Parts: sequence; C-alpha cells; structure tokens
Amino acid sequence: MKRTVRRLADGREIIYFDTDPATVRDAEDTRDLPPQAPASEMRRDPLTGEWVAIAAHRQTRTYKPPAELCPLCPSGPGRPTEIPEADYDVVVFENQFPSFAQGIPGQESTVEGMPMVPAAPAAGRCEVVCFTSDHNSSFGQLSPARVRTVVDVWADRTAGLAETPGVEQVFCFENRGEEIGVTLHHPHGQIYGYPFVTPRTEKMLQVAEKYLAQHGRHVQGDVLAAERAAGTRVIVESEHWTAYVPAAARWPVEVHVVPHRQVPDIVALTDAERDDLAVTYLDVLRRLDGLYDRPLPYIAAWHQAPVRTGRELSWLHLEVFSVLRSADKLKYLAGSESGMAVWINDVTPEQLAARLAAQG
Ligand SMILES: [Zn+2]
Repeated sequence: MKRTVRRLADGREIIYFDTDPATVRDAEDTRDLPPQAPASEMRRDPLTGEWVAIAAHRQTRTYKPPAELCPLCPSGPGRPTEIPEADYDVVVFENQFPSFAQGIPGQESTVEGMPMVPAAPAAGRCEVVCFTSDHNSSFGQLSPARVRTVVDVWADRTAGLAETPGVEQVFCFENRGEEIGVTLHHPHGQIYGYPFVTPRTEKMLQVAEKYLAQHGRHVQGDVLAAERAAGTRVIVESEHWTAYVPAAARWPVEVHVVPHRQVPDIVALTDAERDDLAVTYLDVLRRLDGLYDRPLPYIAAWHQAPVRTGRELSWLHLEVFSVLRSADKLKYLAGSESGMAVWINDVTPEQLAARLAAQG
C-alpha cells in the first residue's frame, strides 16, 4: 500500500492510501479556505467525573448537501471538494469541524465561578475516512480487498493518533444512515483521538480486571468460548473471528465481531487475521442489510485498548448495532436509557441471532 501525505488549503493533513504503488497524488487544493482555528473546549461533569466536549463551531458544518455538492467525492473541473484528486482508493483527512483538535488556544483551568468544574482545550484529533470514491456505494458493497485496505488504514491511523500529543484513546467508527444522524451520504467513517480514556472503556477495563482476579482469565475470552460452545447466538464463525449477538444485547440489533486471539488493537492483528476480518465483516453486514430487506442504519464501533493504560486488560472487538427495531420503527433512547443508562430491549438476542443466522 502506498501512502501519500499532503496538506489541504487550510493546513489540514490529508493522507492517500493507494493499492497501486505507482499512483501519484500531487493535486493542489485550489479552494480559498480560511486557516483552521478549532476552538473546542472540554469540561468535566463534577457529578459524574466524565468529560464533555463543547464544540459550538460544529453547528455550521455541512448538513445533508445534494449529491452534486458532496464534499467527500473526488474533485472535478470547477468543482473542488475536500479531496483535491480526481479519484482515490481510500483517503483520510482531518475533520474540518473537529470536536477534538491540535493547536486549540488556552490552557487547563476551571469554569468561571465553578472551581469544581475543570475545563481544558479539547486537545486530540478527529479524522474522516472515505472508504471509496463511489458516492452511491456503502461499506457492505466494498470488495474484500478494499475492506482489507480499510483495515490497514485503521491500523495506520490508530498507530499515528497514538503518537499525537495528548491522545489517550483511538476510536474508529462508522455512522451509517439518516436515522443515525449522518449528515453526508458518501460512504465514510471517522476516527477520534480522545484526550482521555472514555467512560465505557474505563468501565470495561474495571470489569475485566475484577474478572481476571476472580477467574485468572479474560472475561472476553470466556464469553467467546461460551458463545461458540452454545452456538445459539453465533452468526458467523471463521478461522480467526466469531460474530455473535451478545447474550445481554442492549440494542434491538446488535452484533459483536471478536478476534479469537487477545490483541489490544487493530495494529496488533496479523495479515491472516486482517484478511479474515474483511470477509467475516462483509458477511455480517450483508446479513444486517437482509434483516429488514433495506439498508440498515447502524453504528459500527471499534473497541481498542487505551494508548497508555490497561492494554493487557483489553481485547479488541467491533460492536455493530442499530436503532431500528423493525423495518420502519426506531428505538429511541428515552427515559430509562438516557436518564439512567438502563437499556430496555424489545427483541431477545436469541430471536435476532436466529434471524441473522438464517440470512446465510
Ligand atoms: Zn460523494
């Protein structure tokens, strides 16, 4: 894979990943953009101890543009986009409206009159990953070879962001579908470099530590072995990965894709594991789109080890889930979920697993 690093007109980095080593990427960004001036702040909730990023500048971001104005399509004559080249394989660039970024002015302080509320520049990095130059495609329609390239790109960026000042955790994810709140239809994902360990990861590390102390094994490894032995919730099983509906699924559609070997992050996957992931994940996505016979809106979230802590307690995995509880009904995160973080799921994991397994 050939990797070419360039700059956009406002100074943001853009990285081209090409399978053909002879590819040249030298197109200039001809747009007249003001220099980037990210201004996100983060504040820590004094009652929960959790950080909140406050990014008011994101209100002006591009919202559902018509296809001919898509900023993620390649540039055409007289029509410059975020990607200066006339075509691309996979491309990554810094988000124009980042929630976390480098070079935000200011320093650690507290909110005025609130000494118990720490505030700091939201120092991290947010990137956009375009999986294909084809506006009307989707991740599930990519070839296994292209998905394999995307896996390598995730690994490249996970390693790259881990070396970015202030970044403590790297999160690769994809939001797909209007029901999820996607504002651009072009197939793309995002990567966040957070300046702290996220609450969900912190909780999972605590649980893993306690389980390890009690049983001498990793909880994810035991879950994986039990799911494979039971088989009732398993959707796809390959040499290196198993995809299953978790026994205590929170969402009406939820699938976990888990490597058989304990690794902290995508960087640590072998070539064979990456090849196998591409095929396995595409199989899972095909089944998900078959569930309601329509493109399923989903969130795909990679759980990776933090950059500096808890790495030996982490077990890489992908969680794919949807808010769609039937072909035309949305599950809303209402009182119990939003107020108390207690999920009520109308669909049993076993029912869902049987329907997904039957899509084969
Ligand atoms: Zn597009």
